[in-house]
Amino acid sequence: MNISLTNKVSLITGGSRGIGAATAFLLAQTGSDIILNYARNNERAGAVANAIRELGRRVLVHQANVGNADEARSLVEQGIASFGRIDIVVNNAGIWTYGEIGAMNENVWDETMEANLKSIFNICNAVVPHMKKSGGGRIINIASTAGQRGEAFHSHYAASKGGVIAFTKSIAAELAPFNILVNTVAPGWVDTEMTESALGDGKSREEIAASIPLHRIATPEDIAGPVLFLASDLARHITGSTISVNGGSVLL
Ligand code: NAP
Repeated sequence: MNISLTNKVSLITGGSRGIGAATAFLLAQTGSDIILNYARNNERAGAVANAIRELGRRVLVHQANVGNADEARSLVEQGIASFGRIDIVVNNAGIWTYGEIGAMNENVWDETMEANLKSIFNICNAVVPHMKKSGGGRIINIASTAGQRGEAFHSHYAASKGGVIAFTKSIAAELAPFNILVNTVAPGWVDTEMTESALGDGKSREEIAASIPLHRIATPEDIAGPVLFLASDLARHITGSTISVNGGSVLL
């Protein structure tokens, strides 16, 4: 069976770069029209959208801070107004900041929870009624190894991603009767702008790669593939799961 998303509509949050951009492009390559969200980076989002249009797919580019409930809702409503349906949601938008416990500003905690966890609640809360009405859907939430095993100096980030995993399991059970399948993809280190501070330095990059059993750092496309699998018919019996995409670095 070939993977095909022809006639599907996919909403990807944080699609202007990194994992979100690679995922939007791969889903479009397999036939899906795309609702491409971003926060600030208008030019980068436009470039991703143009690449998708060149594939012959339709694209709606929509700026929204998905951590804000009103903006997330208007993103979903604009998508429905443009395409009539949303079949697949990839909740990918997120931030990764440093925070030492004992010295972490409350705002750092709050902005991470809002961007990484509340954003997913906001989008799901807005899109689920539409998916119920259209007879089903797929929701794929991007977590992290940090949400599985914790991460020193990033406890706020790890807590937000652990929350994503628990939220996913909860709504997967709740939405199964409606044929809405909800899963998590949990990446390890991925080469994107988010990790530039750690991976940009040759020595620390080598050390990180050496600590991963497969001895490589993931590309954004390495994460997009498992997301596509979860969005496809091949994954029709998978819900509430977390797919670890980390080169073997965290084994559960
Ligand atoms: P990235 O390169 O920093 O890109 C982040 C994307 O999210 C951008 O498109 C950004 O938009 C968007 N964004 C951030 N906050 C947003 C908000 N409030 N509303 C809407 N969009 C927002 O990040 P990445 O590495 O691709 O990471 C993508 C996801 O994977 C994140 O959830 C991250 O936590 C997770 N992850 C990454 C790694 C890694 O090693 N890179 C590992 C594990 C998990 P603008 O371009 O407009 O700013």
